[in-house]
Amino acid sequence: MPCLCCNRIRGYVYTGPAYSEKFHYLSGCICPWCVADGSAAKRFPARFADTGTVDGISTEIREELETKTPGFEAWQQEQWMVCCKDAAAYLGRAGASELKNEFAAAIPALKRWVKDEPTAYIFRCLHCQNYLAYADDA
Ligand SMILES: [Zn+2]
Ligand SMILES: [Zn+2]
Repeated sequence: MPCLCCNRIRGYVYTGPAYSEKFHYLSGCICPWCVADGSAAKRFPARFADTGTVDGISTEIREELETKTPGFEAWQQEQWMVCCKDAAAYLGRAGASELKNEFAAAIPALKRWVKDEPTAYIFRCLHCQNYLAYADDA
């Protein structure tokens, strides 16, 4: 199926959240490239991340986060981690085993979300390279 925005068949579709008043079906119908370069957000208009819970970032960064950053599905409201006054890059969701193997460096960031089997959302600061993470509340 071609992307609704650029009409190209890319082989990948964006399936994360899309917030748009008129276009409720964007998720699954547009390609990740159109999300990343901002063209989907302009054309439809839509936002791909909900930054309502994010504090401490500038308007420009908020704008970039909402319109050019592919969002992700969390069980609950997604949260963006902020470090060095910028939104951190979302790396992915990790279960207990991925945490130990791939994201061991992120475990200290998760200490405040104590849980038996955490499913964590892992981020990394683009500036200081620190890992940031949170887990859904049980
Ligand atoms: Zn596209
Ligand atoms: Zn940082």
